[in-house]
Amino acid sequence: MANDPLAPLLAPLTDLPGIAEKLARLLARAIGGTRVIDLLLHLPEHHIDRRAHPSLADLRPGGVATVIAELVRLERPETARQPWRLTLGDGSGFADLVFFRPHARITGLAPGTRLAISGAVTLSAGRPAFVHPEHLHPAARAALIPAIEPVWPLTTGLAAWQIRKAMTAALARLPAFSEWIDPELRRRRGWPEFAAALRAWQAPETPPDPLARQRLAYDELFADQLRLALLRARRRARPGRALTGDGHLRARALAAFGHELTAGQRAALAEIDADLAAPRPMRRLLQGDVGSGKTILALLAMLRAVEAGAQAALMAPTEILARQHFRTLAALAPVPVAILTGGMSASARRETLAMIAGGAAPLAVGTHALFQREVAFRDLALAVIDEQHRFGVGQRSEFGAKGRQPDVLMMTATPIPRTLLLTQWGEMEVSRLAGKPAGRQPVKTTLHAAIQLPAVIAALARALASGARIYWICPLVAETEASDLAAAEERFTRLAERFPGQVALAHGRQKPAEREAALAAFAGGEKPLLVATTVVEVGVDVPSATVMVVEHAERFGLAQLHQLRGRIGRGAAPSFCLLMHGDGGEAAETRLAMLRDTEDGFAIANADFRLRGGGDALGTRQSGEPGFRLAALPRDEALLRIAKSDAAVLLARDPDLAGERGRAARLALRLFGARGRGESG
Ligand code: ADP
Ligand code: MG
Repeated sequence: MANDPLAPLLAPLTDLPGIAEKLARLLARAIGGTRVIDLLLHLPEHHIDRRAHPSLADLRPGGVATVIAELVRLERPETARQPWRLTLGDGSGFADLVFFRPHARITGLAPGTRLAISGAVTLSAGRPAFVHPEHLHPAARAALIPAIEPVWPLTTGLAAWQIRKAMTAALARLPAFSEWIDPELRRRRGWPEFAAALRAWQAPETPPDPLARQRLAYDELFADQLRLALLRARRRARPGRALTGDGHLRARALAAFGHELTAGQRAALAEIDADLAAPRPMRRLLQGDVGSGKTILALLAMLRAVEAGAQAALMAPTEILARQHFRTLAALAPVPVAILTGGMSASARRETLAMIAGGAAPLAVGTHALFQREVAFRDLALAVIDEQHRFGVGQRSEFGAKGRQPDVLMMTATPIPRTLLLTQWGEMEVSRLAGKPAGRQPVKTTLHAAIQLPAVIAALARALASGARIYWICPLVAETEASDLAAAEERFTRLAERFPGQVALAHGRQKPAEREAALAAFAGGEKPLLVATTVVEVGVDVPSATVMVVEHAERFGLAQLHQLRGRIGRGAAPSFCLLMHGDGGEAAETRLAMLRDTEDGFAIANADFRLRGGGDALGTRQSGEPGFRLAALPRDEALLRIAKSDAAVLLARDPDLAGERGRAARLALRLFGARGRGESG
């Protein structure tokens, strides 16, 4: 596009004068993008104020100073371990210039040379000194020292001056933009124009105005909110299918279930039903704490699709969970249910694929194997994803692409913070499943030091004697941790000696059939003590299990422990969770005490978020979603709210983004869109 105003910014870095392939590659590594705009949006971490120009007599250790002085004396070190020491004078006094390594700029200097120097002032041998100052130039080139110097995140092999030079070249290309920000908002906030804001931050002449950063952060949030709003609008405009039914299948499933839905379940189901009945594709996230009863809601939603003459599928993150869901659904659903996992034999797989393709199975359950290309549904109208945060974004959208715009219901027990619901998850509507099924007893949680093992085992013996089913959880950080696996097997052997014939073992390295048999023996009561790794963390449902022992609890995240503990306390009988900790000390105990003191998943997730940083707990880091470059949450949450409502107002007035501001907003969408891999627009 010849007259695309963004062309110079979307062009590759090599378009800038003086930037060859090699430097462009280094820059790309530092800035995370290959285009000129990616460089412009690479904000400095901070700025160094070099405006103080004291005379040498006034030089005080502590700050940053810029001086012009004459080289009075140069002391070559006598041994390699001594520093190079240069004495500077300016008529008012003296200062030292110290280098611990010979430096090309100084070794050949003759006394009498006038130098321009800028750096941190320290005290060395009783005198003010510059030790390895960032700037050292002949005095005639003092203008090379910026008054205010941005400090950008760098990468190995890339020097600050190189990025500065590239930045100057990039800034020179900034065209003037029409504003995408509401003029009234910009006036009220006192925000500079886009180009001025970038200059104020990337090449400032005065200390950078915080309003400039705020404006840029707003721009990024606004573009993101606009993108999400457009996604939602586009989805709503696409014809989906109105799924309605007479309830005859639901009634039979509920009769088999044998419980009344709780008020919270009824409310969430009403929201789901309204989406299903609407002639638009649904994207709904159902958030409900561990044990709140999401599975039955998934089944009821799926049966609505079947009542409407279509198919529904449920995807689970692990094979164990998929099999368990299959059992639950097969027991309650009045129609055939198919299961598809990675570990199936070729013939079983062929049979299942035929049932799904021909429609003989109106319901299907599986792992992500369910959404591989060769799986064809006769008529998929609803896809349910359990514990969706464990799937990457790519997988999520792939799921939605199956069939003719199926409705999508995602379910999670992980409380997702509000800001993430507004950003990464912003294309979805959210239902919160409040409360738990009646009759649940709180789980009594206690902490035990590792040396109390004999007492814990004695307590288990009593529990087993009275018919309890017990989980014994061993930490297994990665499926490949051989030593952890050995510890779990060792524990199994010891407990099997103590309680012969009563102990089963389940871990991720077993053959699926073997693991399945262990879980079945536990669920059925033949082996009432199950030694397991975190393969049981997600969703495993054996309501009669009432005791859980966790070894080395200090090695787990709180949210993960909460998930684990959610395996017990599922029936009406009182449950007990024994957290055993090694030598984690007081800090570990304090952390675990949080779990002892509350069963509120939200409070626990927040504490975990604080203690470990959010990305891990939510799995967003693994999912590879790029974060914001200019905005930072939660700091900019207030801006996010404004950006959200501004995007909505703009789209309400100008849904095609055809007006003047609408067209400007399109520029923002392109500027702040996905990071470039070098394409030019
Ligand atoms: P989660 O939300 O963690 O997936 P589940 O769907 O596995 O929870 O439900 C937890 C347990 O609660 C299951 O044993 C389920 O059968 C039971 N349950 C669900 N809803 C009710 C209800 N309304 N009344 C009684 N028990 C229920
Ligand atoms: Mg579940």
